[in-house]
Amino acid sequence: MDEIKLAALNKNLDRTIIKIGNVSVGEEFFVIAGPCSVESEKQTVETAIAVKKSGAKMLRGGAFKPRTSPYAFQGLGLKGLKILEKAKKETGLPIVTEVIDSRDVTWICEYADVLQIGARNMQNFSLLKEVGKSKKPVLLKRGMHSTLSEWLNCAEYILSEGNPNVILCERGIRTFETYTRNTLDISMVPAVKELTHLPIIVDPSHGTGRLSLIKPMSFAAIAAGVDGLIVEAHIDPRNAKSDKDQQMTPEIFADYMKDINGLYDAVQKIINKPKN
Ligand code: PEP
Ligand code: MN
Repeated sequence: MDEIKLAALNKNLDRTIIKIGNVSVGEEFFVIAGPCSVESEKQTVETAIAVKKSGAKMLRGGAFKPRTSPYAFQGLGLKGLKILEKAKKETGLPIVTEVIDSRDVTWICEYADVLQIGARNMQNFSLLKEVGKSKKPVLLKRGMHSTLSEWLNCAEYILSEGNPNVILCERGIRTFETYTRNTLDISMVPAVKELTHLPIIVDPSHGTGRLSLIKPMSFAAIAAGVDGLIVEAHIDPRNAKSDKDQQMTPEIFADYMKDINGLYDAVQKIINKPKN
């Protein structure tokens, strides 16, 4: 493994805690939820209200979408960011949104509370340096073909520019399996905790691509000690402009939240049980 310096777990250094809205990331469990893409004001604001009601602590939504095909919906850009701003005003939820171009970092910071670096851009080093200069919290997704060492070195790029606010996100890697969209590598949760002081969250929506697998894989992530989860939810998934098959309806999300919070509490009882 290439040596990591600033990200490395160090007994003289506390684990990183990042205050975003009313959440202390790294200290308390939280869920980020929202649509894959910002499609309209109604879709985004209604989704935001619904996920907040069920307990989400941040709103996700892409205004710039890194799509496999250049002919697929690319996001609403600035218009999408303005919609996210409205959703934040309505709900108070901090905004997590993706930045795909280093030239956009400065002005996207006016709308975003957390800058997401997507899997496809994990090793876009000029983008990493730019978000490193911004000091905004950064959600760094694992590249779909990346090793843990490569991923942590990308975090190192951000940290070494003077931005300590990095959250890692496991979102699955490409394997020979085709039933799932990606293979969600839950082992990264304890592995990251073993090597670094950075918080780690899991994205079971992109990690599986299947609605039916999101809750069980969230359970697995919680059991492995994850700091938080990021999931996709949409008021009308069937008509979504991207990732139709993995977005939860508000009803499914409400049930999901109840169960994962229950599991979280049960797991804490075991983890915190005094040893005798
Ligand atoms: C997303 O979260 O919107 C996204 C595109 O995810 P990923 O980069 O993990 O594919
Ligand atoms: Mn998506």
